[in-house]
Amino acid sequence: MSKSAKLHKFVVVGGGAGGLELVTTLGRKLGKHRKAKVYLVDGSPTHIWKPLLHEVATGALNVGEDELNYFTHAYSFGYRFHFGFMKGIDRNRKVIISDKIKDLEGNIISGPRELRYDTLVLAVGGKTNSFGTPGVEEFCQRLDNPIGAEKLRRRFLGQAIGVALGRDPKIRIGIVGAGATGVELASEIFHTMTEIRAYGAKITADQLKITIMEAAPTVLAGVGEHVSAFAHQELTKKGIDIKTHCMIEKVTEKGFILGDGSLLETDIKIWTAGIKAHDWLSTLGLKTDRTNRLQVNEYLQTEDPSIYAFGDCAFAPNIKEPGKTLPASAQCAHQQAEWLAKRLMNDLKGKSTKPFVFNSQGQLVSLGNSTAVGTVNGLVSKVSLKGKSAKIVYSTLYPAQNDDCNQFMRDFHRRGPNVVGRLELPTDDLYPKYKLKIGFSSPIRQMAFRQLRAKDSGTHKEFIIDPMEMQRNGKLLLDVQIRLHRAFGPTSRVTRIVYNNLALCGDPVDASDFDFFLSTSTSTSTLTPFIRPTNITKIKDVGEDEDDIF
Ligand SMILES: Cc1cc2nc3c(=O)[nH]c(=O)nc-3n(C[C@H](O)[C@H](O)[C@H](O)COP(=O)(O)OP(=O)(O)OC[C@H]3O[C@@H](n4cnc5c(N)ncnc54)[C@H](O)[C@@H]3O)c2cc1C
Repeated sequence: MSKSAKLHKFVVVGGGAGGLELVTTLGRKLGKHRKAKVYLVDGSPTHIWKPLLHEVATGALNVGEDELNYFTHAYSFGYRFHFGFMKGIDRNRKVIISDKIKDLEGNIISGPRELRYDTLVLAVGGKTNSFGTPGVEEFCQRLDNPIGAEKLRRRFLGQAIGVALGRDPKIRIGIVGAGATGVELASEIFHTMTEIRAYGAKITADQLKITIMEAAPTVLAGVGEHVSAFAHQELTKKGIDIKTHCMIEKVTEKGFILGDGSLLETDIKIWTAGIKAHDWLSTLGLKTDRTNRLQVNEYLQTEDPSIYAFGDCAFAPNIKEPGKTLPASAQCAHQQAEWLAKRLMNDLKGKSTKPFVFNSQGQLVSLGNSTAVGTVNGLVSKVSLKGKSAKIVYSTLYPAQNDDCNQFMRDFHRRGPNVVGRLELPTDDLYPKYKLKIGFSSPIRQMAFRQLRAKDSGTHKEFIIDPMEMQRNGKLLLDVQIRLHRAFGPTSRVTRIVYNNLALCGDPVDASDFDFFLSTSTSTSTLTPFIRPTNITKIKDVGEDEDDIF
């Protein structure tokens, strides 16, 4: 038997907040050194960190740009990627069965496949729980995965365009659940609408109506009275209507039928309440609870010692606070992944490991572009944070939680919306190359033209443009993509555009100088304009020393 065939085979199913971190560590420490074989199984070819899905839903995060590709990540980190959703298991033969794979048109690319394991880890996450409420499946949008978030983005964008063009009178959004997801989503939608208006879309503040419905007596129940009161106050300041003690009887095409029989009419219905594990987990012959979560012991092991489970799909004992369950959170999945990597490596060496203990670091919830709220557990005591200080800590969470993942992940910070515009430049100059400068009211994080990219651009950026590459249909068209640095301070706006030595736009630049789009796509061909383009007119000659004007 070859050396490779004798190697222990770890199979991790689910490359989410927990699973990706686990395979990255196992791949780096074992797979790369040929000490074990490490496999990741996922039905999606790419990863987006789930706590960012509300940003995908509002277009603040560009999936195409920010997702991580498992195939390339696996190559870099010493594990292999098996593409397909797991649907069953043969525990006697120690194989998992993954479902057939279809392309976007529904054609079958591959039939069901099997993958053998020595140790299996299930980290397949969970989904929202409708608690059997009629109409949720048919009429509600959910943030269970990137596909759901993308559907919500399109629905939201469509409705916003309808209002901007005068087709619809309002955007009425109903969100069920005032947990972190519902609160962050409501704040993000409010912020996105402010951005859209800032760029000239004809939507007034009172045309947006967001209602949060919550069965509990407070928003963010369980996070603490002060935190909850602050969040309530901030949401109310934004004009968001909060209905607590509110039960949903039924969802219809028109809206939500509430416990008192009244109808709350909404255009977009979103369900963020509750959590449960996937139904198929209860068919594996392993113990599950009533929400399909796999029961595991303090070593995250199911009753089959070669099968582990963790994250949102598992129900593990809370050693620190007996009687309480562990939270379904990325924070918990991250700590479990870190612990499990050690445990599995110790197992290979025949060494023992202490049971898993969850140490809560607190919870922070974003309330828009510059404020957040929550608690952070320090070494000495628990600290409540709110406002800007909370937002600063919040904006550092993503890289901290994914410390073990690749450079892409480490570089990833919470970023602002992606704005794509098309600039039509005058072509009557004889310059061999064109020089364009764009000035901003505050530093921007990143901007890109078709061929040129600049990171951390500061308050202005100069680009040399080759007209041969930019000419289309006899016009000099420039696609501009601006990523605003949103976590700190107010959103930056374009203040000046200088083309060669000519100031093309007034100060401040009017939205109509750009043909603006709100987008999560990097290709302008698929975008829908918010504002009709207006040709840019030369305003004044700023001379050679144009630096002065910024
Ligand atoms: C909008 C939102 C905001 C949130 N904010 C926070 C926050 O601020 N802080 C926090 O701690 N938590 C937050 N959470 C919760 C957090 O995202 C989850 O608790 C965490 O992602 C759970 O990690 P996981 O690894 O168990 O599962 P997930 O991250 O959900 O990953 C599951 C993976 O399994 C894959 N998968 C599913 N089924 C199969 C199958 N049959 N076969 C193969 N692969 C499969 C999926 O494609 C996915 O890649 C938030 C959640 C949402 C939705």
